[in-house]
Amino acid sequence: MIAHKVLFLVLDGISDRPCEALNGLTPLAAARTPVLDRIAAEGVCGIMDSIGPGIRPGSDTSHLSLLGYPPQEYYTGRGPLEAEGTGIHMTAGMIGFRCNFATVDANGLITDRRAGRISGTEPLAEAIREGVDLSALGLAFRFESGAGHRAALALVGEGLGDKVSSNDPKNEGVRPPAVQPCTDDPADKKTADACNEFIRQSAEILFDHPANVRRVEEGLPPGNLLLIRGAGKMGAFPQFPERYGLSGSVISAATLISGIGKVVGLEHIPVPGTTGSTNSDLDAKVRAAIAELGRKDFVLMNIKGADEAGHDGKGIQKRDFIEVIDKALEPLLDLEDTLLVVCADHSTPCAIKDHSADPVPIVIRGPGVRVDRTVRFDEVSCAEGGLHRIRGCDLMPIALDLINKSHKYGA
Ligand code: ZN
Ligand code: ZN
Repeated sequence: MIAHKVLFLVLDGISDRPCEALNGLTPLAAARTPVLDRIAAEGVCGIMDSIGPGIRPGSDTSHLSLLGYPPQEYYTGRGPLEAEGTGIHMTAGMIGFRCNFATVDANGLITDRRAGRISGTEPLAEAIREGVDLSALGLAFRFESGAGHRAALALVGEGLGDKVSSNDPKNEGVRPPAVQPCTDDPADKKTADACNEFIRQSAEILFDHPANVRRVEEGLPPGNLLLIRGAGKMGAFPQFPERYGLSGSVISAATLISGIGKVVGLEHIPVPGTTGSTNSDLDAKVRAAIAELGRKDFVLMNIKGADEAGHDGKGIQKRDFIEVIDKALEPLLDLEDTLLVVCADHSTPCAIKDHSADPVPIVIRGPGVRVDRTVRFDEVSCAEGGLHRIRGCDLMPIALDLINKSHKYGA
């Protein structure tokens, strides 16, 4: 028997190192995870370097690698991916940025880099789209508001570079610096000039926008300046359906991950109630993934939350959230005709509060896999499994082979 569908379930940052607070166990090893353990028992396990041994992955570079797009070749910075995830359709050559609505005082000093975690910024974004004009520079732009204080910008036009600095001073109580070109290339200067002009014109519009006037009256910090960062030039991505012969969807509350899915040609399926945090509606997410497998060949689902606990250095909270995830995954045990891949995108050890290069556990379960003797889904148990140690870029070829969609190399 051969499966026809593939579900990649990426448990973001779930992998860890031994935690003092958990008697030397990792949060995943300390958690009670009957569902993940059953998947491990019924599948072939291993550990995986999502990019390569010793390389500390970002969530973006690791997901590109897992999908078979080596980041060394395809990664062009976070900006274009966030922009795509925020709803800007990026095409090759566009320069993408992440933005924050921030607050500056009457003296031009930044008083809040997130404008009091402002939300509902769509009217501000609309005013910017209507009022800002970069045509004197021969350029157009796209601007979209995102969740909370976030937004995204893309510059459209000829001869734009992406080696520019940010106007985010990363500190409060200081004046935002001008965006500077990082090289002598005129293309980078053109982008820096466009950024500064965009920031100037948008600040004028934001200053007396009714929504901001209202916030000031209510004693809230107004979103009266845009901080822009993460410049990157959108590349050309061979599209997933043509490349692999599989139609696909992406389910993720994180715009970075949904953006990656979209740039490679997966359809983004929004799920109401999902937040990308530990209060996310995981049941709704799992239901959405199962529904998508009814109409698509491939689904990438990312569950965040454990990563957040790792960044906060909270081992016990991470263990507890892993148990919540495990419970939500139970309906996946009944999946038929599906190759189920469960892994992390990177380790986020509580001890270092950031991503590390430690390999992550992985299991593949479905018809045809050579079930090994591993019965626990954790970092140490999976290291004894039949997949041994693979790289992220090996995952798509292995999955394609297991569903009989791999091309024979040679005669
Ligand atoms: Zn991640
Ligand atoms: Zn992270």
